[in-house]
Amino acid sequence: MRRRNLALVLGTVAAHSPLSRADVAGRIGLTRAAVSSLADELIVRGALTEAEAVSSGGRVGRPGRVLAVSDRGPAGLGLEIGVTHLAACVADLRGEPRVWRRVERSNAGRPAGQVLAEAAALAAEAEAEAAALGLRVEGRVLAVPGVVSNERRGLVERAPNLGWHAVGLADHWPDPDTVPDPDNEANLGALAEYWHAERVMETFVHVSGAAGIGAALVIDGRLFRGARGFAGELGHIPVHPDGAPCACGSRGCLEQYAGDAAVLREAGLTRHGDPVALLAERAGAGHAPTLRALDRAGRSLGLALTAAIDLIDPDGLVIGGAYAELAEWLLPSVRAELAARVTVRPWASEAVRASALGRRGPVLGAALMTVRRLVADPTRLSSS
Ligand SMILES: [Zn+2]
Repeated sequence: MRRRNLALVLGTVAAHSPLSRADVAGRIGLTRAAVSSLADELIVRGALTEAEAVSSGGRVGRPGRVLAVSDRGPAGLGLEIGVTHLAACVADLRGEPRVWRRVERSNAGRPAGQVLAEAAALAAEAEAEAAALGLRVEGRVLAVPGVVSNERRGLVERAPNLGWHAVGLADHWPDPDTVPDPDNEANLGALAEYWHAERVMETFVHVSGAAGIGAALVIDGRLFRGARGFAGELGHIPVHPDGAPCACGSRGCLEQYAGDAAVLREAGLTRHGDPVALLAERAGAGHAPTLRALDRAGRSLGLALTAAIDLIDPDGLVIGGAYAELAEWLLPSVRAELAARVTVRPWASEAVRASALGRRGPVLGAALMTVRRLVADPTRLSSS
């Protein structure tokens, strides 16, 4: 009961701060004395701060004290291992990102232990910078472009674009006290979008693409992972029944038409460095074969997303991750395809948009995972 009430007070201040103790009591229907005791505990645990209210011009009387979620103390660390980069982010309890780190590095095909040791070094740097800001990391989550076991914690079942198969993080992480929990990058990108979007959608599909194309489903404000954690494998939805063979063993998968390798090939470009940045640069310069290749990729993406819309009836679709940088060229054909094919329900073309977070989404989502857990259960917070 106390755990639930702590979460209620913290959640109320997070959503509506600044609030006085009396304001909080009024909003959640507990007594002023009960709220005060809960607020005191949250202050001791470093989750809330209390300060004199800034007087709002002309009001007569004693200024009150107001509660706010702390921008120091408890924080979440997010990490990401991508095919061509490593990233780290620390978010405070308000959900605000305070530390960002990103290094370009080719991780495909390298030993998992080596990549994880480098990620651990980047994590240590980010934690040191956070500590200098007065932040204390209380949980660590790692975004990976792969499937994470629903049953066995800490196991990346497969991440084909990294060349990983059954990698247990604890077997490779240098410090047993800081081993992160892995999660799928598309899921984490969707979570960041849910937290930070200007216009919140409760049910949406978040598509993130690069080497592979992943989707995450947020349904009624919750991530839908599927029975075994495989939900959202949009890249392997067939868009041409007898089309090109795919690495997954099937044929005509979306990835063969809208994955970055396919788009580069279609555009007649040779991969060097970051393929998405190269495509954006060529498209921005008006390179006709690149524009045609992106148009074709957008149509295939629209075709695959028609199935998702008809199946789950979302409020909208978000193109996130690196592909957000290609949105300018992908969105017109995605929208045209959907306008032509989604006919059994009303569908506005504005319901498809690009994520403002872009490449930062998954690593921010990884940091927010811990923040969300702490806000939902403040008894997890260590006393400061
Ligand atoms: Zn496939």
